[in-house]
Amino acid sequence: YDDTLRNQLLREQAITDSMESALSQNQFLVYLQPKYRIKDEALVGAEALVRWNHPFWGFLSPAEFIPLFEKNGFITRLDRFVWEKACAVLHDWDERGYYPMSVSVNVSRADIYNEDLADTLVTIIKKYDLDPSRLHLEITESAYTENPKQIIDTVTTLRELGFVIEMDDFGSGYSSLHTLKSYTFDMIKLDKEFIRPFTDKGRRIVTSILAMNHVLAVPTLVEGVETWDQLAFLRKRGCELIQGYLLGAPMP
Ligand code: C2E
Ligand code: MG
Ligand code: MG
Repeated sequence: YDDTLRNQLLREQAITDSMESALSQNQFLVYLQPKYRIKDEALVGAEALVRWNHPFWGFLSPAEFIPLFEKNGFITRLDRFVWEKACAVLHDWDERGYYPMSVSVNVSRADIYNEDLADTLVTIIKKYDLDPSRLHLEITESAYTENPKQIIDTVTTLRELGFVIEMDDFGSGYSSLHTLKSYTFDMIKLDKEFIRPFTDKGRRIVTSILAMNHVLAVPTLVEGVETWDQLAFLRKRGCELIQGYLLGAPMP
């Protein structure tokens, strides 16, 4: 026990105390980060990432408040808010006659345990007159290991409904080969730590994962691409999609 711990607890308490009013006062903003196909550098979609613009603290990083909201359960409500905003954006683009892109949203491990997850998602896409395939759902790899039965059921239902499932942060958890064998998903998002820093060992690992995913016929997106060097390497290794500051940071 020391001051660091105490200050952290106070900070967490302050965040918890202000989360409800933050939601009602529109302090949470949804940013979009573009996703590109490497082959022709075409824009193929975007990921919705939440931001908290706090009146006193300024912009807070999701890395600070998401884990806390996952613990206290508030993430369920925040995620719903983000999904709804993402669908509202897609609807707005449709009204303007833009090319029908997809947007992916993060689905927290806590959402998976909610029995009405599928109903909630269907209600939102219907409200905005969207085909379910326009909404991609990112589920972090570690959620797959926590409750295999629940996640298989949930993912199967969601895929049958037409949603596209992306396994997020692949490589950051156990990366079990059983997971790859037992679960169905439509895309793997490789965690940015393999290319940051861009070491020889990281490159070899990325090369083997891409080779494996090609055999499995699962498209791979590499996150956190920041340099042309990385892009050239990934193109040579047959990586399908990228996301990163090089081609576009999360933006309002
Ligand atoms: P994630 O889903 O893996 O999102 C990618 C993170 O990588 C984002 O961080 C993004 O800003 C960052 N990033 C993208 N390109 C680059 C790059 O080139 N270099 C570097 N260094 N970073 C890059 P962000 O926005 O801070 O979000 C962190 C995590 O918080 C997300 O990781 C996701 O797990 C969670 N998160 C964010 N928004 C939501 C949300 O609405 N709901 C839930 N449940 N989780 C969210
Ligand atoms: Mg994500
Ligand atoms: Mg990720």
